[in-house]
Amino acid sequence: MTSPLKYRRILLKLSGEALLGNANYGIDPEVIGRIADEVADLIKAGAEVALVLGGGNIFRGAGLAAAGMDRVTADHMGMMATIMNSLAMQDALEHRGRFVRVMSAIQVHEVCEDYIRRRAIRHLEKGRVVIFAAGTGNPFFTTDSAASLRAVEISADLMIKATKVDGVYSADPNVDAGARQYNHLTYDEIIERKLGVMDATAVVMCRDNNMPLRVVNMNSPGTLMRAVLGGDEGTLITK
Ligand code: UDP
Repeated sequence: MTSPLKYRRILLKLSGEALLGNANYGIDPEVIGRIADEVADLIKAGAEVALVLGGGNIFRGAGLAAAGMDRVTADHMGMMATIMNSLAMQDALEHRGRFVRVMSAIQVHEVCEDYIRRRAIRHLEKGRVVIFAAGTGNPFFTTDSAASLRAVEISADLMIKATKVDGVYSADPNVDAGARQYNHLTYDEIIERKLGVMDATAVVMCRDNNMPLRVVNMNSPGTLMRAVLGGDEGTLITK
């Protein structure tokens, strides 16, 4: 049987803020449950799914540093926050009968596996959801950079960035009524127009390695499945 999926191996990046829902801090169980439902549906449809979760709902290094903390220590705290989010997502997916492995870029052996590329790919081939935690393992990077790096490392067919808006806009749609949504952009256009899709490190990593990215709205039910089936969802960014 031929698969209806256009993209088989997916890397999904979710910001920590996406997990906040209506809460001011931490994780909204309803939100994480809804995302886990969608990820579980992708696995059932035969997709291989890797996740990268941000940590901004708990700690962001830059914010802590602005308040006076040593930046490297602050980034370590940010990376720890991504591990906590990853464990919460692992739990939500396991409650839905999925097999999950959290693989961390910093060693926390009592809690999760280390990131080992070949092992990660094997997990994906076996239908396990792999959650890449602790970003790149290095301070001064973001989880968007970690997501683009891991997407390239595992040869993902598509990276998806799930946000709170419908795609990439010419201006902030919450502020500018004339803002228009782009259907398709190149990575160079993102850099030239200074569009705040991801940080420059992540954009260049995707551009130089020809990794397509689709920016979608996580609050739109079924958005992940439509994206994986090849639907014209949100904004597609390519080289
Ligand atoms: N972080 C880091 N190195 C990485 C990835 C993340 O030091 O490779 C830290 C950094 O402090 C960052 C925090 O982890 O602020 C949470 O990640 P991010 O801000 O990307 O989360 P998001 O905005 O997606 O919620």
